[in-house]
Amino acid sequence: MSAPILLQPGSTLGVMGGGQLGRMFVHAAQQLGYFTAVLDPDADSPAGRVSHHHVPTAYLDAGGLARLAEVAAAVTTEFENVPAQALTALAASRPVAPAAEAVAIAQDRAREKAHFGRCGVPCAPHAVIETPQQLQAVPDALLPGILKTARLGYDGKGQARVGTRAELERAWDGLQRVPCVLEKLLPLASECSVVVARGRDGAMVHLPVQRNLHRDGILAVTEVVDGVLPEPLARRAVQATRSVAEGLDYVGVLCVEFFLLQDGSLVVNEMAPRPHNSGHWSIDGADVSQFELQVRTLAGLPLVQPRQHSPAIMLNLLGDLWFVQGREATPPWDQVLALPGTHLHLYGKPQARPGRKMGHLTLTGATSAAVRATALQACAILGIAPF
Ligand code: ATP
Ligand code: MG
Repeated sequence: MSAPILLQPGSTLGVMGGGQLGRMFVHAAQQLGYFTAVLDPDADSPAGRVSHHHVPTAYLDAGGLARLAEVAAAVTTEFENVPAQALTALAASRPVAPAAEAVAIAQDRAREKAHFGRCGVPCAPHAVIETPQQLQAVPDALLPGILKTARLGYDGKGQARVGTRAELERAWDGLQRVPCVLEKLLPLASECSVVVARGRDGAMVHLPVQRNLHRDGILAVTEVVDGVLPEPLARRAVQATRSVAEGLDYVGVLCVEFFLLQDGSLVVNEMAPRPHNSGHWSIDGADVSQFELQVRTLAGLPLVQPRQHSPAIMLNLLGDLWFVQGREATPPWDQVLALPGTHLHLYGKPQARPGRKMGHLTLTGATSAAVRATALQACAILGIAPF
């Protein structure tokens, strides 16, 4: 017997944040017959524009939070930098998933790494730098390294590669001496991620391991095709992700990113307490998407193991593609959509900017080779470097 449903279709589900992840959550919720409410200060946010309700206030605005709790029967989040206090405030009157405490840990690289350690999941050798004394005490073995702000980094922002102690000191000054983590620069063979969903009853399901290619610190390509990772490593990545979720008593969708090192070992990079860019392929390549999993965990619907029905490759569509020789131009969607197995997702952002995530393109097909061939054709059409 499965547990009784917490919130039946027809209820209203709320989400903190109105970006593309919130938009795809809203789409999934609406498909299942839920009403939706989005809290985001931007009157024109991608999710706010498609939601039944939109509360256009700051995340910590008491009136806005009260309004969200009034319209929504339960609340989730679409980005990890929503202040944990806002989730705590909402939790006083509504079920909130993931919980504020789990989000607070994911928001802070130092706490996140400590959590990985507690779960027995290895991460990069690192040191926390909050004081000049800690800066001086950094062991030489961590250089060359990457200095990352403990909080508020994304898409490689708030990071600096440092080769020497002098560079480290300059980089910390450049980051306004906010709390940071210095990580040893590791020899990566590739990167991958795993999305899990965990219900209130502890039931857990996961998507298959996804191989990710980053360019300039931003995810560029995700491949979920044959042979992405040798089977024993894939099993270990899934097991590690489950341990991380269990250790947080997590409810919701969680993504853990890994580095595969050149010596074949697997090291955890970071986690996101929400669906992740690397899981977008699941909308078109699996029978349950990561966004439907988010709806199911929030509303207390049964969790079933998603089945990948097609090999899939996802290409991120960054704002750079909207500029040809410095002039703004719409990418050639006619040519892209003429390819077989293309699924174009655009987030409705009014203004393209270099590096801004404007949408993604998922390619599916009968075989991994066929999907790869069309993905490369799409890259050529769009001016994305081949992979
Ligand atoms: P996002 O939130 O978009 O995933 P982020 O800003 O949190 O990105 P990270 O995931 O920490 O950034 O790093 C971005 C990329 O930089 C990684 O995916 C990897 O390619 C590279 N990188 C980060 N840390 C290391 C490391 N210790 N050694 C080698 N490469 C690294
Ligand atoms: Mg990352």
